[in-house]
Amino acid sequence: MAPTSSGYRGRLAPSPTGYLHLGHARTFWTAQQRAAGGTLLLRNEDLDQARCRPEYVAAMLEDLRWFGFAWHEGPDCGGPRAPYDQSARLGLYQSAFEQLRHAGCVYPCTCSRRDIAEAAAAPHESGVGGGDEPLYAGRCRPERLDPAERARRAALPRAGHPWRFRVPDGRRLDFFDTARGAQSAVAGADFGDFVVWRREDLPSYQLAVVVDDAAMGITEVVRGADLLVSTYRQLLLYEALGLVAPAFHHCPLLLDAEGRRLAKRHDSLSLRALRAAGRSPEALRAEWV
Ligand code: GLU
Repeated sequence: MAPTSSGYRGRLAPSPTGYLHLGHARTFWTAQQRAAGGTLLLRNEDLDQARCRPEYVAAMLEDLRWFGFAWHEGPDCGGPRAPYDQSARLGLYQSAFEQLRHAGCVYPCTCSRRDIAEAAAAPHESGVGGGDEPLYAGRCRPERLDPAERARRAALPRAGHPWRFRVPDGRRLDFFDTARGAQSAVAGADFGDFVVWRREDLPSYQLAVVVDDAAMGITEVVRGADLLVSTYRQLLLYEALGLVAPAFHHCPLLLDAEGRRLAKRHDSLSLRALRAAGRSPEALRAEWV
């Protein structure tokens, strides 16, 4: 499909850790509509080696096509595929990590899961969704360590322990969400120091998505409201890396009959199951309006 002339660049960024469900389709449909007249790309977010599987990538492409998605760049678009698989982009993420490390924005965290859980504070309930992970208490922050330990840790290799981005405590971050309007959160209260590099020597979602959205020239990120808190983390990364942040549009999450958000466990609402049950994409879309 040939890209069109507007400067808008949007993306679909699924992770192949299961089958796509109706919630993905709804968010992606919004993304596709907003990209009308511009360029839409598909990025395969396949960094989670333990959970991503090639058969889910194949299913994702088939399910997206069936539902009526069409993209101009990325896997199965008729052009080169490799640059849009995150697993093929590790060099870019490593450079970004080294930039953050050089600037003193990150530190290695040697806390066990148990240490983290015991010391964690609950995030502030301030309208940013109550946070999506407990606040890291900052035990491995460099200023908490004696100088010798600080120097030892600064020289640690990248692999073997997670590296956290040190958030500016008390700083208020604002952005205008094109779906939800003005948004704000306070670093260190609504979210804490977050992982940018994983012990398996891979980038975290936060770092990879920022590097990619910037490198791919994305002008607006359309995604589910479950990632709203992550947007603040990502805004800090854009700033620290000297990159320009895109606009953000967070879609409401689709809920099941019990009011829970759809997840990959909702097998009956996977696009494959709906297709097998004879549902048509047109009829499914008609239910959203
Ligand atoms: N790959 C992420 C997911 O499936 C979404 C990334 C994003 O849209 O920023 O949850």
